[in-house]
Amino acid sequence: MTHFDRTKRRFLRLAGTGTVVGLAGCLGGDDGQAETTTTTATTETGDDDHEEELPEGVSREEFERGPVPDAYRTARSQADEERNPDELFPKADVKFQEATDAVEAGLTQSGRDCDNCAEYIPDKNGDGFGACARVEGYIGPEDWCSLWESIEEAEAEAEAGEANNSS
Ligand code: SF4
Repeated sequence: MTHFDRTKRRFLRLAGTGTVVGLAGCLGGDDGQAETTTTTATTETGDDDHEEELPEGVSREEFERGPVPDAYRTARSQADEERNPDELFPKADVKFQEATDAVEAGLTQSGRDCDNCAEYIPDKNGDGFGACARVEGYIGPEDWCSLWESIEEAEAEAEAGEANNSS
Protein backbone atom coordinates (compact mmCIF):
# COMPACT_ATOMS: atom_id res chain seq x y z
CA MET A 1 0.00 0.00 0.00
CA THR A 2 1.44 3.39 -0.97
CA HIS A 3 1.59 6.36 1.38
CA PHE A 4 -1.11 8.05 -0.68
CA ASP A 5 -3.37 5.02 -0.46
CA ARG A 6 -2.97 5.03 3.30
CA THR A 7 -3.81 8.71 3.58
CA LYS A 8 -6.72 8.36 1.18
CA ARG A 9 -8.05 5.52 3.33
CA ARG A 10 -7.65 7.73 6.39
CA PHE A 11 -9.42 10.57 4.60
CA LEU A 12 -12.35 8.34 3.74
CA ARG A 13 -12.47 7.02 7.31
CA LEU A 14 -12.65 10.58 8.61
CA ALA A 15 -15.22 11.50 6.01
CA GLY A 16 -17.40 8.74 7.40
CA THR A 17 -17.32 10.39 10.80
CA GLY A 18 -18.26 13.80 9.43
CA THR A 19 -14.84 15.22 10.23
CA VAL A 20 -14.11 16.04 6.61
CA VAL A 21 -16.17 17.99 4.11
CA GLY A 22 -16.07 17.32 0.38
CA LEU A 23 -15.01 14.18 -1.45
CA ALA A 24 -11.67 12.58 -2.11
CA GLY A 25 -12.43 12.55 -5.82
CA CYS A 26 -11.49 16.20 -6.30
CA LEU A 27 -7.80 15.89 -5.73
CA GLY A 28 -5.80 18.59 -7.38
CA GLY A 29 -2.17 19.36 -7.98
CA ASP A 30 0.17 22.29 -7.76
CA ASP A 31 2.80 21.58 -10.34
CA GLY A 32 5.02 24.58 -11.10
CA GLN A 33 7.26 27.09 -9.41
CA ALA A 34 6.98 30.13 -7.14
CA GLU A 35 9.36 32.63 -5.59
CA THR A 36 9.09 33.42 -1.88
CA THR A 37 9.70 36.58 0.10
CA THR A 38 7.18 38.31 2.42
CA THR A 39 4.12 40.61 2.43
CA THR A 40 0.68 40.68 4.07
CA ALA A 41 -2.70 39.75 2.67
CA THR A 42 -6.01 38.26 3.67
CA THR A 43 -6.55 34.58 3.14
CA GLU A 44 -9.60 32.40 3.53
CA THR A 45 -9.26 28.79 4.59
CA GLY A 46 -11.55 26.27 6.24
CA ASP A 47 -14.64 27.79 7.76
CA ASP A 48 -13.24 31.19 8.77
CA ASP A 49 -11.62 34.22 7.21
CA HIS A 50 -8.43 35.28 8.90
CA GLU A 51 -5.43 37.49 8.33
CA GLU A 52 -2.30 35.63 7.40
CA GLU A 53 1.10 36.88 6.34
CA LEU A 54 1.75 35.63 2.83
CA PRO A 55 5.16 35.26 1.22
CA GLU A 56 5.88 38.30 -0.98
CA GLY A 57 5.09 37.75 -4.63
CA VAL A 58 2.78 34.85 -3.85
CA SER A 59 -0.85 35.42 -4.76
CA ARG A 60 -3.67 34.25 -2.57
CA GLU A 61 -4.50 31.65 -5.20
CA GLU A 62 -0.94 30.34 -5.16
CA PHE A 63 -0.95 30.34 -1.38
CA GLU A 64 -4.09 28.24 -1.28
CA ARG A 65 -3.56 25.95 -4.26
CA GLY A 66 0.14 26.16 -5.10
CA PRO A 67 2.45 25.80 -6.81
CA VAL A 68 4.81 25.71 -3.89
CA PRO A 69 8.53 26.43 -4.35
CA ASP A 70 10.58 23.70 -6.00
CA ALA A 71 12.21 22.71 -2.72
CA TYR A 72 8.85 21.34 -1.52
CA ARG A 73 7.33 19.89 -4.69
CA THR A 74 8.49 16.33 -4.16
CA ALA A 75 10.06 16.70 -0.73
CA ARG A 76 9.61 14.14 2.02
CA SER A 77 7.55 14.85 5.13
CA GLN A 78 8.57 14.52 8.75
CA ALA A 79 7.47 10.87 8.63
CA ASP A 80 9.35 10.34 5.36
CA GLU A 81 6.28 10.46 3.12
CA GLU A 82 6.96 11.80 -0.37
CA ARG A 83 4.88 14.71 -1.64
CA ASN A 84 3.25 14.04 -5.02
CA PRO A 85 2.10 17.38 -6.50
CA ASP A 86 -0.48 15.56 -8.64
CA GLU A 87 -2.22 13.88 -5.69
CA LEU A 88 -3.06 16.58 -3.16
CA PHE A 89 -6.25 17.51 -1.35
CA PRO A 90 -7.66 21.04 -1.63
CA LYS A 91 -7.53 22.78 1.75
CA ALA A 92 -11.28 23.26 1.88
CA ASP A 93 -11.87 19.51 1.57
CA VAL A 94 -9.93 18.71 4.72
CA LYS A 95 -11.17 21.57 6.94
CA PHE A 96 -7.79 23.27 6.79
CA GLN A 97 -7.57 26.14 9.31
CA GLU A 98 -5.52 27.45 12.20
CA ALA A 99 -5.09 24.81 14.89
CA THR A 100 -6.45 27.11 17.61
CA ASP A 101 -9.63 27.62 15.60
CA ALA A 102 -9.97 23.87 15.09
CA VAL A 103 -9.64 23.29 18.83
CA GLU A 104 -12.26 25.97 19.54
CA ALA A 105 -14.58 24.33 17.02
CA GLY A 106 -14.14 20.98 18.73
CA LEU A 107 -12.51 19.43 15.67
CA THR A 108 -9.27 18.40 17.33
CA GLN A 109 -7.34 18.30 20.57
CA SER A 110 -5.03 21.03 21.80
CA GLY A 111 -1.44 20.36 20.81
CA ARG A 112 -2.18 18.92 17.38
CA ASP A 113 -0.99 21.06 14.50
CA CYS A 114 0.95 20.82 11.27
CA ASP A 115 4.22 21.26 13.12
CA ASN A 116 3.82 17.84 14.75
CA CYS A 117 1.96 16.11 11.92
CA ALA A 118 3.47 13.20 10.00
CA GLU A 119 2.64 14.88 6.67
CA TYR A 120 4.31 18.22 7.33
CA ILE A 121 7.32 19.41 5.36
CA PRO A 122 8.92 22.15 7.49
CA ASP A 123 10.00 25.57 6.22
CA LYS A 124 13.03 25.32 3.95
CA ASN A 125 13.49 28.93 2.84
CA GLY A 126 12.89 31.04 5.94
CA ASP A 127 9.51 32.46 4.90
CA GLY A 128 7.72 30.83 7.85
CA PHE A 129 5.74 28.39 5.71
CA GLY A 130 6.29 24.78 4.83
CA ALA A 131 4.23 22.42 2.73
CA CYS A 132 2.32 19.20 3.18
CA ALA A 133 2.68 15.80 1.60
CA ARG A 134 -1.12 15.55 1.24
CA VAL A 135 -2.57 19.07 1.01
CA GLU A 136 -2.16 21.81 -1.60
CA GLY A 137 -0.45 25.14 -1.17
CA TYR A 138 1.56 26.82 1.55
CA ILE A 139 1.20 25.41 5.06
CA GLY A 140 2.08 27.07 8.36
CA PRO A 141 3.29 25.09 11.37
CA GLU A 142 0.36 26.34 13.47
CA ASP A 143 -2.27 25.21 11.00
CA TRP A 144 -4.26 21.98 11.13
CA CYS A 145 -6.46 19.81 8.93
CA SER A 146 -8.57 16.71 9.37
CA LEU A 147 -5.82 14.47 7.96
CA TRP A 148 -3.61 15.18 10.96
CA GLU A 149 -1.67 12.12 12.02
CA SER A 150 1.03 11.79 14.64
CA ILE A 151 4.53 11.07 13.43
CA GLU A 152 4.69 8.04 15.73
CA GLU A 153 1.43 6.61 14.35
CA ALA A 154 2.56 7.08 10.76
CA GLU A 155 5.91 5.45 11.41
CA ALA A 156 4.24 2.51 13.16
CA GLU A 157 1.84 2.04 10.23
CA ALA A 158 4.74 2.18 7.79
CA GLU A 159 6.64 -0.43 9.78
CA ALA A 160 3.58 -2.68 9.93
CA GLY A 161 3.14 -2.31 6.17
CA GLU A 162 6.74 -3.27 5.54
CA ALA A 163 6.40 -6.28 7.82
CA ASN A 164 3.28 -7.43 5.92
CA ASN A 165 4.99 -6.98 2.57
CA SER A 166 7.96 -9.09 3.64
CA SER A 167 5.86 -11.94 5.09
S1 SF4 B 1 -2.41 18.67 9.63
FE1 SF4 B 1 -1.13 20.02 8.34
S2 SF4 B 1 0.68 18.81 7.79
FE2 SF4 B 1 -0.91 17.37 8.57
S3 SF4 B 1 -2.00 16.63 6.76
FE3 SF4 B 1 -3.10 18.44 7.49
S4 SF4 B 1 -2.23 20.21 6.38
FE4 SF4 B 1 -0.82 18.47 6.17
